[in-house]
Amino acid sequence: MTFHVSRPLPLKYNKATIQDKHSIMNQTVAIVTGGGSGIGLAIAEKFVQNNITTVIVGRDQEKLHQAKQKLGDLCVPIAADLSDLDAIPTLVKQVITQFGHIDILVNNAGINMKKEFTEVTNEDFLKVIQTNLVAVFALTREVVKTMLPNKKGSIVNISSMAAQYGIPKVIAYSASKTAIEGMTRAMATELSPQGIRINCIAPGFIATDMTSKAFNADTERKNKALGRTPMGVMGNPGDIGDAALFLATDSSRYITGVVLPVDGGNSIGF
Ligand code: NAP
Repeated sequence: MTFHVSRPLPLKYNKATIQDKHSIMNQTVAIVTGGGSGIGLAIAEKFVQNNITTVIVGRDQEKLHQAKQKLGDLCVPIAADLSDLDAIPTLVKQVITQFGHIDILVNNAGINMKKEFTEVTNEDFLKVIQTNLVAVFALTREVVKTMLPNKKGSIVNISSMAAQYGIPKVIAYSASKTAIEGMTRAMATELSPQGIRINCIAPGFIATDMTSKAFNADTERKNKALGRTPMGVMGNPGDIGDAALFLATDSSRYITGVVLPVDGGNSIGF
């Protein structure tokens, strides 16, 4: 005869479960999209260092696995393609099922495409917009639905200098990042009265693998970028991590709707 199904669990186990539930509810939980590499990984690292349970999302399982190896127990990888909008509610549900709540969302995942204007197809344009803008909207909407009952939450969007000044051959990217900044302001006016802050970071030239490779292959572009950067050097992914930690947490509790350039002064350079 087996009693396993209907028998109450041993008291010791019940206590542990209650404590686990309590500690899960007390955890600060963040989602960082694109947290498996570059700037997203640096943001996730800062969060984990500050005891924030950090769900990192990306398409590449191997990248996520390596990030998990680096960041340890507080890092929780979930593989998902955010451009698949129908999968987004399931992703959010998965996080809620595991942790009960979401405190912070960092919309960092993004793609770029460099092409002559007349060569950009409708499909090219829509692909960038789908990942950099529509997915950000759809994920934020689903996460905000879970934040509203708690009347608390912080969203950090990642924009780019491409939203501020014209850069040739990155039409869709520039359009997506400019829209992100507008969306940040619109959402901040609507959601801040309900306890949810929305802010944005506009990184300058940050030495991720991708940018470093592009710069090393194009010295003229590198010199032009650094020439108009008053601090004269590229930033590190950790510089964006520090800013994201500030905007995501109560250190910035009276700040909403801003676009913070983290760019060594590039945006005000002559
Ligand atoms: P990166 O290393 O290429 O990071 C992009 C991340 O986004 C990757 O981890 C990628 O993961 C994820 N991603 C892309 N498409 C996705 C999708 N459909 N679904 C899920 N995840 C997706 O580039 P980065 O330089 O760190 O860029 C991060 C953000 O900063 C981007 O929004 C970028 O526009 C912005 N930014 C960067 C710079 C810079 O100088 N580096 C400057 C300004 C702004 P998977 O490949 O695993 O999907």
